[in-house]
Amino acid sequence: CFHNLERSIFCTQGKTMTSHNMLINGSWVPASDSAVDEIRSPYSSELVGTVPRATLADVNTAITAAHEGFRVWSRTPAHQRVAILNAAAALADQRAPEIARIIAAENGKSLIEAQGEAGRSGDIIRLSAFEGSQLYGDTLPLDANRGTGFDKIGFTIRQPVGVVVAISPFNYPALLVLHKIAPALAAGNSVVLKPARATPLTALAIAQCFVDAGLPEGVLNVVTGQGGVLGGALVSDSRVRKISFTGSTAVGEHIAASAGIKKLSLELGASGPVIVAADADIEAAATSIALGGYINAGQVCISAQRIIVDESIHDDFVAALTPKVEAIRVGDPFADGTMVGCLINRGEADRVRQALEGAVSSGARLVTGGEQSGAVIAPAIVTNVDPQSSLAQDELFGPAVAISTSENFGHAIHLANSTAYGLGAGVFTNNTGNSIRAMREIESGVIHINWTQLWRADLMPYGGLKSSGIGKEGPRSAVEEMTEIKTIIMHGTPWETTS
Ligand code: NAD
Repeated sequence: CFHNLERSIFCTQGKTMTSHNMLINGSWVPASDSAVDEIRSPYSSELVGTVPRATLADVNTAITAAHEGFRVWSRTPAHQRVAILNAAAALADQRAPEIARIIAAENGKSLIEAQGEAGRSGDIIRLSAFEGSQLYGDTLPLDANRGTGFDKIGFTIRQPVGVVVAISPFNYPALLVLHKIAPALAAGNSVVLKPARATPLTALAIAQCFVDAGLPEGVLNVVTGQGGVLGGALVSDSRVRKISFTGSTAVGEHIAASAGIKKLSLELGASGPVIVAADADIEAAATSIALGGYINAGQVCISAQRIIVDESIHDDFVAALTPKVEAIRVGDPFADGTMVGCLINRGEADRVRQALEGAVSSGARLVTGGEQSGAVIAPAIVTNVDPQSSLAQDELFGPAVAISTSENFGHAIHLANSTAYGLGAGVFTNNTGNSIRAMREIESGVIHINWTQLWRADLMPYGGLKSSGIGKEGPRSAVEEMTEIKTIIMHGTPWETTS
């Protein structure tokens, strides 16, 4: 499969070597000091490719290019932007099978999951292209303001912000890159993208689609390398007008502290709750949670992590969930039948195993799973979890659910709200009153009734409350956040209203 992968990367990028360059000012370039990072499969450790390890000088060149690129792109009419983005979407559709193989190789998720992810690329670009062409303003009824008559006209215009810095995480290397760059470009902004260090090859393959579609030079730039080294220069540069970051809450806080006066979107971590009420359909809840807790090896910000089950149905629920979790086939991302691959690296698998062991040593019960083999963790169920323990309070980002019990629905909502986070929540109940109470009282940016939070339609507003972030993604929301409103007032001379 790696032989095929290499061939497909070369076909995509038209090159005949295993190393890849980054995109600055329309050219594919190495790092200014020629340093490279090796990208290895987290499952097999095989070399997947190399990318430049960008320097601070490269970041400066990329921001300069984006600054110039913005002058061209912001003066490109929306219908031309739509045409280029739709061409990029068609290429992303065509190349989805190759991009899926790149995702599975560098990220370690199963090929089937990678195909699902890559298959959404074209639609995200098309949805964004449309929203970016809808930059409407408002007419202001100035005459309603005492002292103002009909001699003035006021309205708003919506314009792109300028240079957008997009910083993305490893867990959805195509999806989360596209949720930033597609709306940014659609609205007329230029972009400097810094993909996760572990998964830059997917980002480069996606960038290639935009280049091949005819995006002018400098409009999209991709710098690869270490976030900790490049991040400060990217987020504090005064030529950058907007930062769109998805990643951990710790790095998000750091960015917020150093960004200065800029627009910020922060999509951060979570410890997602799912309530299973006494009146829930236990079988349906178990089916959904056996997906929502384990997809992408649990490395999803909207993973179902904390399961809060009414004490009256706890045993029945665990009995329904266990065989479904034990049926999840984990392992080699490219093997037939693998549903869930490995974690992003061995160290992360060590961390997750230790978190499970720590919970057990504090009195929780491991019902199934938790065994480690390299970067793979067997899907786990832990019961009797103290809602205040770290397995509940901290983001696990691994393939396990932590089950606690509630005394009643109000108590369940209290527990759901008892962490610093608030990104996604799920509620299983057959009672309309419970559903409405949950919608109103759960502190979460997205709430699903009768499904877990691990579900996303790309067009919907998506983002967290509390320590889970600021702002919303989804093409319409992102275009709004990547544009600014100017208020315009035209002053005429008063005329005689009786004539
Ligand atoms: P991370 O925070 O370690 O890294 C994210 C990105 O930030 C990477 O590109 C990294 O290189 C860069 N970075 C690192 N240090 C930086 C710094 N000082 N300044 C600027 N950039 C820096 O996150 P990760 O491990 O790649 O991803 C997992 C995290 O992302 C989890 O916490 C998860 O919940 C979160 N996430 C959130 C969402 C959401 O929509 N809310 C979606 C996916 C992932």
